[in-house]
Amino acid sequence: MISVKNLEKRYGEVRAVKGVGFEVARGDIVGLLGQNGAGKTTVMKILTGYLEPTAGTITVGGVDVLTDRLGVQRQIGYLPENAPLYPEMLVQEYLLMMCELRGLPPEKHIAAVSDAVRATGLTKFLTRPIATLSKGYRQRVGLAQAILHKPEVLVLDEPTNGLDPVQIQEIRGLIKRLAQHSTIILSTHILQEVEAVCNRVVILIDGEIAADAALSDLLKSKRVRVSLKQGSDGAAVALGKVPGVSKVSRQGADADTAGFDVWICEFTTATAPIQAIVETAVQHKWTLGGVAPEVSNLDTVFRTLMTQKAAASAATQTSAEEKAA
Ligand code: ATP
Repeated sequence: MISVKNLEKRYGEVRAVKGVGFEVARGDIVGLLGQNGAGKTTVMKILTGYLEPTAGTITVGGVDVLTDRLGVQRQIGYLPENAPLYPEMLVQEYLLMMCELRGLPPEKHIAAVSDAVRATGLTKFLTRPIATLSKGYRQRVGLAQAILHKPEVLVLDEPTNGLDPVQIQEIRGLIKRLAQHSTIILSTHILQEVEAVCNRVVILIDGEIAADAALSDLLKSKRVRVSLKQGSDGAAVALGKVPGVSKVSRQGADADTAGFDVWICEFTTATAPIQAIVETAVQHKWTLGGVAPEVSNLDTVFRTLMTQKAAASAATQTSAEEKAA
């Protein structure tokens, strides 16, 4: 549905986006995750045709944003960060104006507005001035304008930014409902947002893609937690010989089972070598308390990627300094 290739954006000296590429399939809810300044808004503005890239290509439904910006914008509903609304306008006035700006045929305006307000839970607020709505409901108005033309793709820049916890839950629920009919890319720096709403995540660090994976794959850790009765002789060596296990370490006493220790086996195979670990335990007559793959969380994944990126940058700098010396 969306294809981004070798995207570059420079603002003068600032290289905000560096060779970014990713694909989005129809029906995906992709979280574009990154810290402040990572380049999320820049990628979204280019994707929606509001900013020209320095280099690279983007197609949406096979249409190239550089050669047919309007063709792309017809397929996309965009909720910019801090969506510009007109506070003095009534909700319906604003949405009707947006229908006109979008070039929808006049006879379709009423139906478009009524579908959009129904989808966003705004029906009761049609005749309210936007200024009198809570921040969460103003965000709903932003979402309503984004879906007026029934786009196949929704691009939402920080859709829950600045909302209170209740409003955040409401908007996340709304996004999930909208996802039943649309492909969605949303940007956020909130890890839980991605875990709550998305099925895929693209992580941007300092303008570069650090990870691009199904959320379930990203959270699969390459570690197995093995609980063994204390005194299981030679566990470190024997577990280390299990095919696919690259490293074994003893984490300490098992908090759940008295008299057992937890061992962590890091593995390199596609799936966790659970059966081989159990067979090894049986061969050595150890008493097993449990064997299970560890489940990671996005926070750990993100921190690991940040650390790797910092280490890689430091190594590049050192080698540049050595060359210069
Ligand atoms: P945030 O979460 O804070 O919105 P972001 O991930 O969306 O951040 P961008 O707004 O895309 O990041 O900014 C990426 C980089 O480009 C930052 O270093 C930012 O300062 C810089 N930048 C963005 N817009 C401009 C501009 N118009 N002129 C110069 N630099 C800019």
